[in-house]
Amino acid sequence: MGYILGIDVGGTNTRLGLVSESGELTEFVREATSQYNTEGKAVTLFMELVKKYISEHAKSKAIDAISVGFPSTVDKDRKVVIETPNIAGLNNIPVVDTFEKEFGVPVFLERDTCLILINDMEKNRIPAEGVAIGIYYGTGIGNAISIDGRIFTGKHGVSAELGHIPMRGVEGRCGCGNSSCAEVVACGRALEGIMERHFPGEDISKVFTEHGDSEVIKRFVDDLSIPAATEINILDPDYIIIGGGLPNMEGFPREELESHIHRYARKPLPDEDLRFIYSKEGQESGVMGAAIHARQELLKREKAER
Ligand SMILES: [Zn+2]
Repeated sequence: MGYILGIDVGGTNTRLGLVSESGELTEFVREATSQYNTEGKAVTLFMELVKKYISEHAKSKAIDAISVGFPSTVDKDRKVVIETPNIAGLNNIPVVDTFEKEFGVPVFLERDTCLILINDMEKNRIPAEGVAIGIYYGTGIGNAISIDGRIFTGKHGVSAELGHIPMRGVEGRCGCGNSSCAEVVACGRALEGIMERHFPGEDISKVFTEHGDSEVIKRFVDDLSIPAATEINILDPDYIIIGGGLPNMEGFPREELESHIHRYARKPLPDEDLRFIYSKEGQESGVMGAAIHARQELLKREKAER
């Protein structure tokens, strides 16, 4: 059997790797996204990058499918990249059709956060049945929802935008153009703003060890819990995966975050039975998630054909 070519497109780096059927990652490389983030030429240049990768790393290997994660909104059918906030030229791109025509293998497209959740579910042996949510506090808030082994997409494909739920009292404008979004106060970018206002010139990586007891940081952790509790009260999930750069920072008060989530969760249930799992993404998580996703989808196609 062959390999899945997993690709994880990020604002700074694009990661590529070949994953065997037994789940082994080989030929993992990082390429600068600046090689192709050019208005009008992004798809052509991105395809050149993939062709170069294949000729250098996969020449004698069979590729069963190509699976790509984008930091973008993607359409409900997972065929078109609709909009990419941080990469020029990746708007309204029919990735699946274009790539299938070029490479002649099945191509899968997914939102990057969904692939991280798929990888986390596999790593933690979370069963497909039931509801698993991933809440990733990074620069913004990443979110993905899996229901009975399927990523929940919504009407347009743009569900699980937890960073953009409105919160009263939030001042400032969000990257999406709205005001009052949770992300304005509850993510890494918000923490950078807190550093500038309250601890100018200090090292952000030490903020929880040195200022964890300060009112402003306690308030920040409380703010982080509100979108999480909101989603938990709506979905009553079996598993709550928390990840991203923030919860993995030194001294991050996980217990404090959990106690706030419990405080806001409906009583007695789901409050009494919340199952938290912490995830630590590595460089390769997106590529691995892409490969797992492709294998699952290929299997579904096989079953449907029988
Ligand atoms: Zn917003």
